[in-house]
Amino acid sequence: MTCYCIGRNYREHAKELNNPVPERPIVFSKPASAVRLPGQGAPYPPFTRDLHFETELVLRVGMEARKLSESDAWQAVDAITLGLDLTARDVQAECKEKGHPWEVAKAWDGSAPIGRFVDVPEALRTDGVAFAAYRNGRRVQLGHTADMLFPIPALLVYLTRFFTLMPGDLVFTGTPSGVGPVQSGDRFQAFLLPELSPNGMQSDAPPEALPSPDGPKSERALLQQMLLDVEIQEG
Ligand code: ZN
Repeated sequence: MTCYCIGRNYREHAKELNNPVPERPIVFSKPASAVRLPGQGAPYPPFTRDLHFETELVLRVGMEARKLSESDAWQAVDAITLGLDLTARDVQAECKEKGHPWEVAKAWDGSAPIGRFVDVPEALRTDGVAFAAYRNGRRVQLGHTADMLFPIPALLVYLTRFFTLMPGDLVFTGTPSGVGPVQSGDRFQAFLLPELSPNGMQSDAPPEALPSPDGPKSERALLQQMLLDVEIQEG
């Protein structure tokens, strides 16, 4: 299993790191050993003093897929969740300065904690969905997939020009603005939201999670569940 990750896929995030807006998707990858499943926590590794969180919508690939077209791209996705692309920002700065690859800053053991998977909400294919991340109970990131520079089908088309996606592969689709430092002991929770409601914008605290849909799936219940809940531990 491989995690493919997209860099700078939201204009506001590219700006906050003083990066130019890319003309094509920026792609890097993390190995299977980077993934941490719900309940496993994630490490603050000893080789960085500037660990950052980036909260991202994560796609799970459900079939072997190559050379997808925009119209069939969604068929390759069988579930979604939210995850953190944990980044050793100081190590990354050094890599960038030297023009070296990012892997040691991005792809280390435990750098990709993910939440539990849910079905692809219909709204994600049409208008997009909002998501928010909370650090120790306070909102730190709020994004909407409609603000992606390269929408999900375009990302899948681009990736499969180069790579055969395999069942179980993950695609981290980039982070909105609001990334910031992590401390050991921090707890991160992330939710899909039904909309960027004025309420959601004002509230600093996590929403009340709706119960998991029982029986016929309710789109709204799907869109107000906590997917990610991870604690960062001294690694
Ligand atoms: Zn990222």
